[in-house]
Amino acid sequence: MSLPIVAVIGRPNVGKSTLVNRIAGGQSAIVFDQPGITRDRNYRPAFWRDREFLVVDTGGLIFDDDTEFLPQIRQQAMTAMGESQAVILVVDGQTGPTAGDAEIAQWLRQQPLPLLLAVNKCESVTQGLTQAAQFWELGLGEPYPVSAGHGSGVGDLLDALVPHLPSVVGGSAPEPIHVAIIGRPNVGKSSLLNALVGAERAIVSPISGTTRDSVDTLVERDGQSYWLIDTAGIRRKKYVDYGPEFFSINRAFKAIRRADVVLLVVDVTEGVTDQDLKLADRIIQDGRACVLVVNKWDAVTKDSHTLPQVERQLRSRLYFLDWADCIFISAKTGQRVDKILALVQAAAESHRRRVTTAVINEVLADATAWQSPPANRQGRQGRIYYGTQVQSQPPTIALFVNDPKLFKDNYRRYLDHQFREHLGFRGTPVHLLWRGKT
Ligand code: GDP
Ligand code: GDP
Repeated sequence: MSLPIVAVIGRPNVGKSTLVNRIAGGQSAIVFDQPGITRDRNYRPAFWRDREFLVVDTGGLIFDDDTEFLPQIRQQAMTAMGESQAVILVVDGQTGPTAGDAEIAQWLRQQPLPLLLAVNKCESVTQGLTQAAQFWELGLGEPYPVSAGHGSGVGDLLDALVPHLPSVVGGSAPEPIHVAIIGRPNVGKSSLLNALVGAERAIVSPISGTTRDSVDTLVERDGQSYWLIDTAGIRRKKYVDYGPEFFSINRAFKAIRRADVVLLVVDVTEGVTDQDLKLADRIIQDGRACVLVVNKWDAVTKDSHTLPQVERQLRSRLYFLDWADCIFISAKTGQRVDKILALVQAAAESHRRRVTTAVINEVLADATAWQSPPANRQGRQGRIYYGTQVQSQPPTIALFVNDPKLFKDNYRRYLDHQFREHLGFRGTPVHLLWRGKT
């Protein structure tokens, strides 16, 4: 899920950039990869109540009295509107409505986006409301008197914006979770798929996947649906002309890419191999959630110490997956197979989760109080100004600092650990983006 975008538009000099500064507080512009984002604009993270969004000054929208109507300007504005969830039109309360405002208003009335009308420069207590009231004539609904310069009225404006933005804390029907079962040949992937499908009663249907030779299976449990991705063609073994030992890593990579959560299956009688490490590495690179499934537990002679011992061994090999839950199962006898989907759901939940900027900064304040950022040999100390989650799937937190070079690996790991401990990102990688002052 991407952050919603709020576009601020209006004639030049009405106070758009001042308002954007006010809304974003001290938060500086960020550049990051989000599908559909235009790179050359300044997207600034902002939050109000429990909503987070990016606010962008589209700048280019000029319909001025004496400005020629330029198609490319309209194009630019259209692009900005196309990626936005809501628009704030800024007008100048001290000049009153102009022909340019009317022109923009007429165009905006045809747009399908929620719109708020901010009448700026209304800092005068006595005149503010009268100034704003003149703008009813634009036919865009209630004009909100604000002063971007002084800050008055901006809270009311944002309160009116909130219902148009999705809540950070979710609440809608759960999306299906795509699950890939990955592992070397003979670790028991097809046995596990069958056991999972057999253990869950409400199979809707096996339907054709995107390619002819892959068949995904939909399983439902407690109102949550799971697509079990048929990865290495585990269902079509008999059709392939290569031997059953053939291991196509590219097929596995493709399946990882399609998944929200990867079940990385290892065979307990064989332990973790180099191929498993390669798969684990790709899971992390692609930012997928993961549950480590240790299969063939029935084939191990064991006492009460065996499980923790074996888990320690596996985890020391797969130390970079230390955030993933680990479950010991037998696809053959069905032991603990019914516990897998609960772990998948927990991992998917962390993977999709959004944490508010307020909470992230609370964790940061605590973490830096316990352990100050390091200073370099010249005595220059690392400083973290603030952090904000800029993306989910996987959770991606941008940290704005004085100089990323001052933060070495061990401090980065410390913070990663603090975020995990306090925000409980179980089963998902968390990406930290270190941003210096620009
Ligand atoms: P933009 O071109 O729409 O981005 O406008 P700016 O934000 O650059 O502001 C244009 C001018 O209006 C600047 O001189 C600002 O100082 C002034 N301005 C912005 N907000 C306010 C306000 O709330 N009150 C007053 N009186 N002036 C403002
Ligand atoms: P895949 O190649 O990863 O799909 O593995 P299969 O599901 O085809 O299983 C490979 C072999 O391991 C088969 O002979 C299975 O019977 C066996 N196997 C799978 N799961 C288990 C298990 O939990 N315990 C034992 N003992 N054998 C298993």
